[in-house]
Amino acid sequence: MDLHKLSLSKQLEGLKKGDFTSTELTSHYLNRISELDGQLNSFITVTEDQALSQAKAADDRYKTNNNFSLDGLPIAHKDIFCTKGVLTTCGSKMLSNFEAPYSSTVYEKLDKNGMVMLGKTNMDEFAMGSSNETSYFGPVKNPWNIEYVPGGSSGGSASCVSAELAPIATATDTGGSIRQPASLCGLTGIKPTYGRVSRYGMIAFASSLDQGGVIAKSAEDAALILEAMSGHDPKDSTSLKLDQPDLTNNLNNPIKGMKIGLPKEFFEKEMAPYVLKSIEEAIEVYKSLGAEIVDISLGNINLSLPIYYIIAPAECSANLSRYDGVRYGYRCEDPKDIEDLFMRTREEGFGAEVKRRILIGTYALSAGYYDAFYLKAQKCRQLVANDFSEAFKSVDVILSPTTPGTSFKSGEKTNDPVEMYLQDIFTIPANLAGLPGLSIPCGEHNGLPLGMQLVGNSLEESKLLQFAHSFQSNTDWHMKMPNI
Ligand code: GLN
Repeated sequence: MDLHKLSLSKQLEGLKKGDFTSTELTSHYLNRISELDGQLNSFITVTEDQALSQAKAADDRYKTNNNFSLDGLPIAHKDIFCTKGVLTTCGSKMLSNFEAPYSSTVYEKLDKNGMVMLGKTNMDEFAMGSSNETSYFGPVKNPWNIEYVPGGSSGGSASCVSAELAPIATATDTGGSIRQPASLCGLTGIKPTYGRVSRYGMIAFASSLDQGGVIAKSAEDAALILEAMSGHDPKDSTSLKLDQPDLTNNLNNPIKGMKIGLPKEFFEKEMAPYVLKSIEEAIEVYKSLGAEIVDISLGNINLSLPIYYIIAPAECSANLSRYDGVRYGYRCEDPKDIEDLFMRTREEGFGAEVKRRILIGTYALSAGYYDAFYLKAQKCRQLVANDFSEAFKSVDVILSPTTPGTSFKSGEKTNDPVEMYLQDIFTIPANLAGLPGLSIPCGEHNGLPLGMQLVGNSLEESKLLQFAHSFQSNTDWHMKMPNI
């Protein structure tokens, strides 16, 4: 049986009915990984032995009818989530020897629900990038065409789900790293409201923007797992004091009469004709389902990219100061003295993009420049957030493309950081405002998938998923998978 063709809820049903065991399901994916991942490089570590023992434990629980809510379902974790006793690299040489001494809350929550970890997925170094070409462990390929990038930074998670090497994967999004790779790989990716998912044990890039979520094959699958990942965590001081939300019950409710906002600033941008066409067709689908389309304005949205490229590097420069070769991770050989130890460890342990961000961030935070750059960026960030609050007084969700186009060829943008940064032009605003956003497939161009983005008001993941699910119940873009 093609077990990898089943949705997560069908897999769960199959496990419950005893149609197949978790050991069978897990082995099926492990076999696909060993057969196909050589050409994709979507995993940094495959945790075969641990997966099979977790699967066996789930099977034993089924035998005694003592099972957990997601018992025996496989998942891949982005290598940014600490997993006790398992290599956790964040795509960096700096952590290439780091076995986490504890597990992230995300891992713990899914583990407690019985999920089986297949392995740790490749990613841009410290989650900085949009093409998964900055990983110390080599670039990841897009299963739709291996000459193209899968997007980043959660490129490994997107690549492996798209090639059906895992039914679902965790991911993180600081400026677009869940939605952009989901868009480029033809998948559904959701970044929840800031604070919804605990950041405990999720290696920090830019703490005020980072948020965990999932990349899945459908909104239905995403809802099932995101629900289990969410909820208050006393170990994360920015975790919202809210219980686990119900994200699945609302999926089938009609969206008739609900309002979709189209921000004029996004649609004024020069947009590739095929992008506009796909988005217009998606809008028609929503109209046919009874949604109302409203033109809106987000007046300060065009400031988002410059704001982000002050705040994210500033926070990263502070967060990455901990990698000094003293406490854990990579250490240079034969340091002359303590200064040499710090300097050479960081010189040798970090890649070029990470160094570029640390330099920009350190500069933006330095005495005399702090007010002019960092503080100013924070004030402007508030303006963007205010625009969204205003807009959500009159609409339910905001629709746009996720990315300026389909995937691009490996190497095409590596020498032009600004070109690369422009990949996130549509996704960054939601991070600045802390809002939930998702991407779902809505078209194709030259055999490569394309996504649309929906951004919701704070804590309205359920409504976003409802919009995504109603689209997916009436179209089949999300059903298309690459021939790998
Ligand atoms: N591409 C953006 C960056 O390089 C966003 C990355 C992310 O969301 N982690 O910073």
